[in-house]
Amino acid sequence: MPRQIYINGQYFAPDDAKISVYDHGLLYGDGVFEGMRAYSGKVFRLTEHLQRLDESGRAIGLQMPIDLETMANDVNETVARNEITDGYIRLIVTRGAGALGLDPFKCSNPQLIIIADSITLYPDSAYENGLDLVTASTIRNHPAALSPRIKSLNYLNNILAKMEGLRAGCVEALMLNHKGEVAECTGDNIFIVKDGKLFTPPIEAGILEGITRNAVLQLAQQAGIETAEIPLTRHDLYVADECFLTGSAAEVIAAVKLDGRAIGDGSVGPITQQLNQAFRTLVRQ
Ligand code: PMP
Repeated sequence: MPRQIYINGQYFAPDDAKISVYDHGLLYGDGVFEGMRAYSGKVFRLTEHLQRLDESGRAIGLQMPIDLETMANDVNETVARNEITDGYIRLIVTRGAGALGLDPFKCSNPQLIIIADSITLYPDSAYENGLDLVTASTIRNHPAALSPRIKSLNYLNNILAKMEGLRAGCVEALMLNHKGEVAECTGDNIFIVKDGKLFTPPIEAGILEGITRNAVLQLAQQAGIETAEIPLTRHDLYVADECFLTGSAAEVIAAVKLDGRAIGDGSVGPITQQLNQAFRTLVRQ
């Protein structure tokens, strides 16, 4: 079935879905976005994603072109029109077309784009065996420069780290913050298990407040697993019993190696498996 791409309330075939080359989303990465998944035709935590999109917009002084309720209806409509049962949705708000200079105040027509498609991030084998990570030398954006809490269209920080990972033969890379603490991976949050407890860096470490992260923290608490959001070092990861990543695209996936060291026994651990199972059940409830 041919895809129908939503732009500002209208639907276009992919080849006809176009925006201006003067759009500051293209010229400067000036805009915000969300990536979410639909399970059995229903978007997981849609309200939370729209809230985060709106907050990212507020942080960069970009007002959403339509109210969040209408946006939710439009996302659902796009999912339905594209006959997506299990798929991925990309929601983008650009600053809009302006002059060639930086001035965002000259941009008057933000573009709201919704793409509903499928995504295969990792093969099944990656979920069965876990990922091999490497620490990137590129640190996560300093929160005082461009807060990692803003899911902006400027993903170069993450892309530079991702390139380092790929060049080292790893599909994901660990990013540290400006203090040398563990922040997150290029497109996922990170967790470790140590002595039966679950740890993940706090928001103050300079990370995106992942919606999957929050769901997994909640699931762990419901399962009686003790959780703590505390600063972590690479050492904590090297000596962890288990490690896993969370994200809308990646879902819950184990990381079994970091910088050539096996984490735990180098296989997918029991708490990772338990939380992965709980997450898979949750998204289809
Ligand atoms: N960190 C970064 C840098 C990301 O790009 C993502 C993916 N959006 C995440 C974490 C995970 O966030 P979420 O669970 O909301 O998809």
